[in-house]
Amino acid sequence: MDILKDRILSEGTALSESVLKVDNFLNHQVDPQLMHEIGREFKERFENKNITKILTLESSGIAPSVMAGLLMDVPVIFARKRQSLTLTDGLLTSEVYSFTKQETNKISVAHKFLQKDDTVLIIDDFLANGKAAEALIDLVDQAGSTIAGIGIVIEKSFQDGGRILREKGYHVESLARIENLAEGKIEFINEEEHSNANV
Ligand code: 5GP
Repeated sequence: MDILKDRILSEGTALSESVLKVDNFLNHQVDPQLMHEIGREFKERFENKNITKILTLESSGIAPSVMAGLLMDVPVIFARKRQSLTLTDGLLTSEVYSFTKQETNKISVAHKFLQKDDTVLIIDDFLANGKAAEALIDLVDQAGSTIAGIGIVIEKSFQDGGRILREKGYHVESLARIENLAEGKIEFINEEEHSNANV
């Protein structure tokens, strides 16, 4: 997705060899116009999957998910990382190790929002080692719902998450795939080279 890649190149900062900061448009300040385009792209890439719900993780997954939900005309559920006072009963929970914060969080959703007949698209802002996506998959599995696929805004392909999820057979669509962040430079994967192998 070229407009996303352009924004990453012009506004993203490689904080280290493995962490990318994009707080101008995704992780702190949010660009609604870009989120709209991202939502449109997810809708196109998961067309004809009969998706009934989008599941994401608070907080940075919410903006792209809401735009996709608006365009796909389906509700968006965000898994909570903190315990809510009003959300106590009927919870599905899982654990996710946060790569950026280096801590384990319990995440939860109310079971009533994910039912057996739901077909769920999981969306997240970043894919690194796949822990967040695996925890969201776990929640969907606990609910007995079907997973339509996993939509990622930025995949760091030099980390293992994308490979692991694809090897497990999930349909993963990443709108920008970063091959390398070394020496402060941001390099994207050559999609043509990878289109057959899809690694
Ligand atoms: P994973 O669970 O795949 O290891 O990491 C994905 C989660 O960690 C995402 O939900 C995202 O919030 C965060 N994350 C991982 N890598 C990065 C990164 O390079 N930049 C930012 N801003 N967040 C990241």
